[in-house]
Amino acid sequence: MHRLYEYGDIAVFWDSEKCRHAKMCVTGSPKTFDIQRKPWIDLTKAPTMEIWQAIEKCPTKALTCVYAHEVTTELDPDNCRSVAYISAAPVSEVTSETKYSEGTDSTSTTDNRKQIGECDFRRTDEGFVIYHTEVLPEYEGKGIARRLVFRLLEAAEKEGMKVIPVCSYAAKVLSGK
Ligand code: SF4
Repeated sequence: MHRLYEYGDIAVFWDSEKCRHAKMCVTGSPKTFDIQRKPWIDLTKAPTMEIWQAIEKCPTKALTCVYAHEVTTELDPDNCRSVAYISAAPVSEVTSETKYSEGTDSTSTTDNRKQIGECDFRRTDEGFVIYHTEVLPEYEGKGIARRLVFRLLEAAEKEGMKVIPVCSYAAKVLSGK
């Protein structure tokens, strides 16, 4: 199971297959990581630094994190993709209605957001075929592509669908690297 959590300055990845339930995370930030709660991770419960330090103690790398860089990701199921946006306004002030156009670098918005990346898939009888992941060059190396892939992995798993990664980057993420 793959899950992505984003809040404020931090984006957290959880890969349940790597989790050995050592509970170092729970010890490090008990309000954030609560195995009795669903979802068991709530990034609103503690300061970013506490969460970050707890994640660093995870012995298996089931939990990892990156700085969010003021980027948010979301699923766009109608267009079979996940999308990354950067916003000049605080996330809480971002509203609706984004107008999409072809490609990664030409999206216009009505809500002060700019699209900076996307990850695309096709729905097939076999599952979600992920065939393309792209982030604008100036935003590479910040973990944004991984967040986009995790968004799709999470969506597929919630629908009980398999993921078939044609995109080499998505294959790498799926393999846990
Ligand atoms: S510290 Fe890592 S391995 Fe241990 S319970 Fe937390 S996520 Fe799982």
